[in-house]
Amino acid sequence: MDMSTVQRDLKIPTFDDVKEAQRRLAGVAHVTPVLTSKTANAMADASLFFKAENLQRAGAFKFRGAYNSVAALDPAARANGVVAFSSGNHAQALAYAARLHGISCVIIMPKDAPEMKVAATRGYGAEVVFYDRYTEDREVITRRIATERNATIIPPFDYADVIAGQGTAAAELIEEVGAIDYLVVPLGGGGLLAGSALSARALAPGCKVVGVEPEAGDDGRQSLQKGEIVTIPVPKSIADGALTTAIGRHNFPILKQDVDDILTVSDTQLIETMRFFAERLKIIVEPTGCLAAAAVMHGVLACKGKRVGMVLSGGNVDLKTFGALLDARRA
Ligand SMILES: *Cc1c(COP(=O)(O)O)cnc(C)c1O
Repeated sequence: MDMSTVQRDLKIPTFDDVKEAQRRLAGVAHVTPVLTSKTANAMADASLFFKAENLQRAGAFKFRGAYNSVAALDPAARANGVVAFSSGNHAQALAYAARLHGISCVIIMPKDAPEMKVAATRGYGAEVVFYDRYTEDREVITRRIATERNATIIPPFDYADVIAGQGTAAAELIEEVGAIDYLVVPLGGGGLLAGSALSARALAPGCKVVGVEPEAGDDGRQSLQKGEIVTIPVPKSIADGALTTAIGRHNFPILKQDVDDILTVSDTQLIETMRFFAERLKIIVEPTGCLAAAAVMHGVLACKGKRVGMVLSGGNVDLKTFGALLDARRA
């Protein structure tokens, strides 16, 4: 890592932090299966390995980073609880991780967050505090609540222990299948991609690391091209776990150093990939969870004859939405 490009106030994780996360997660996170499919291999003319994090606890890889972050806290600080702003998978993951540690968790969500997500987060025992996304600043509210309760803020991606935890999924994948030529993962704020890159560099030398984001929001690709973090307006895509407007500051130095390419896929390609997984592998993968597989199976990544590992990052989509997306494309 070129330290001159890294600001001093940042704690950038290394593969040692991923190994530490693996120890903390042992016996807690599921070692999710690596799925293969002859049909998928034939479509891509390559050997494909799908790490099924849609089957992870709380339905997404986010449990890894959230649990690792809570476990890494000093016990005295941890006892005061954790706070996050999120209406997505990080909210549920952190709520669950907090419950497993017997501590309190406050999640800040917009007033208009989907009722399902609110219910799921409360279901894991978290307290939900609402804010008005048009008149209030969620970061200010998050900091205020953290200060009032002396609690620790655990961000969804821009945080060393989150990155290290997310890296354990790729580590397991490589440990299970051996050498791979490509590791392809979804990209939102870059927690999964940065952690995966740390694991790939350490465990699979020569493996190319590729991130995939929605076509509508290619800030990651722009940032890598420009050599600095590029911020975009909130993108419109069905990949609701990857609608971030900028890569995190802890994530970008790792991406700059260790990521070979960033690709994009369309919503249509995501839906076709969701359908493939449901029909052929009998699994539900949410739109964001299909980003990497869509790039590989629709030829966006040229990987003929290669061994390709992918993370299916999550499975949290309600069946009504799932059905509507598939129906809309059937016509
Ligand atoms: C959060 C999330 C992502 C994106 O992860 P980042 O660490 O923000 O890049 C991808 N897929 C799913 C299912 C997610 O929940």
